[in-house]
Amino acid sequence: MNILEETKYIMNEYDVHPNKRLGQNFLFDEPSLQTIASEVTNEDTVIEIGPGLGTLTAILAEKAKKVIAVEIDSKMVQILQERFKLYDNVEIIQDDILHVDIDKIAPKAKIVANLPYYITTSIITKLLNTNIKDITVLIQKEVAERICAEPGTKKAGAITYFVKYYADSKIVADVPRECFIPSPEVESAVVKITKREERAVKVDNEKLFFEIIKTNFTQRRKTILNSLSGIIDKEMLKNILKECKIEEAARGENLSLEDFAKIANLFEKIKNANN
Ligand code: SAM
Repeated sequence: MNILEETKYIMNEYDVHPNKRLGQNFLFDEPSLQTIASEVTNEDTVIEIGPGLGTLTAILAEKAKKVIAVEIDSKMVQILQERFKLYDNVEIIQDDILHVDIDKIAPKAKIVANLPYYITTSIITKLLNTNIKDITVLIQKEVAERICAEPGTKKAGAITYFVKYYADSKIVADVPRECFIPSPEVESAVVKITKREERAVKVDNEKLFFEIIKTNFTQRRKTILNSLSGIIDKEMLKNILKECKIEEAARGENLSLEDFAKIANLFEKIKNANN
């Protein structure tokens, strides 16, 4: 039985109707599955987010020391428990990944997953704030391209800057929509994110730094002066931009990570001096 036949068999056997709301698109393309799992070794503990029917889980279980699979859907959990009952290296947790304390369950794990697309950025943002260093995930191609874009280019968004601050990232493979059952409406890509020991820039107040980036990109058509005047007094902002040598008419997508760090650090300094 090939993986497509196996997927159809399990879906039929358990009367599975993929839940669109939970992003249930099951990957059956063997080369893509192998690419996602390619860097897993027998020394690794792997956290798999959204194991679904267990197709990728089965490949990971052959390669890894341990697989911790976190799945929100009770029907999938029932299938997984039966499918992996004879495996002593597969642990299944029924939970919402956004509620799981990842550093508590396995701080040194690698993350390997075909992510539910509706929460891709929330999951990646969460992972960047844990001790996890190695993330290989299949996601929507457009989001993969945004993550891996160069800051200061049209494709860049807030997530580009968040990821760049913590990590290096690259697209390792494209996965066409025909490789899933059911086919998603979008193309997909495998992205690899590797956390660095050091942050890319020195930031005095990370919360403020992220708030500035986020505010800027939720109003990306506005100039930097107009978008940030919601959180920084306009006259003060004019002075900050002048001192940082950033044009008032620049748009966020024209700015580098260093530019955002300079704005945040100078604003923080002025706030502290005024207190
Ligand atoms: N890994 C399987 C595969 O490659 O075929 C399924 C991937 S499917 C794109 C995403 C999976 O994530 C689904 O099984 C879905 O139920 C699960 N899921 C959705 N939201 C989740 C959440 N918040 N926490 C954990 N799992 C979630």
